[in-house]
Parts: sequence; C-alpha cells; structure tokens
Amino acid sequence: MTLKLTCPNCGPRYTTEFWFGGEPVPRATPAAPGVDALRADFERVWLRTNVAGVQSERWFHHAGCRRWLVTERDTRTNVFHGHG
Ligand SMILES: [Zn+2]
Repeated sequence: MTLKLTCPNCGPRYTTEFWFGGEPVPRATPAAPGVDALRADFERVWLRTNVAGVQSERWFHHAGCRRWLVTERDTRTNVFHGHG
C-alpha cells in the first residue's frame, strides 16, 4: 500500500516521491560546560520519539519541487493530517 501525501507546491503525490526526514527537532543550543555536545547532537538526530498516535514529521519532495514540508501523520493508521 502506497500512501499519498499532499505537497503544498505540487499537490497529491505518492510518498515514494518523498524522503522521510524524521520528526522536527529544534537544533541544539550551544553546549553548556559539562554537556557532551556530540552525544546531544547524536540523540537529536537519531533517537526519535516515534509516538503511537499523531506526530509531526518532515518530508522532502525529492521527485518534485525539492522542498521540505512538515506534516502530521497518525502512526497507527498512516493517515496524514495537515498537508496529508
Ligand atoms: Zn512538491
């Protein structure tokens, strides 16, 4: 089953045209003394919350407008909200 995602620039498209960019996480602030900056950056990029429910996600439309979009998807049903 291929999901459809609505790109705000290109309209409805299959998710095979997109790259999943994970959950939007704010960039870490400069590390305070005593904080392992490398570890904090690793956790920000690779350790995802992956909730069972609606979560915000970043998607890159590589086969279309080549722009990032942020949308919401229910991980239990794969139904997109917002741009979906
Ligand atoms: Zn697009």
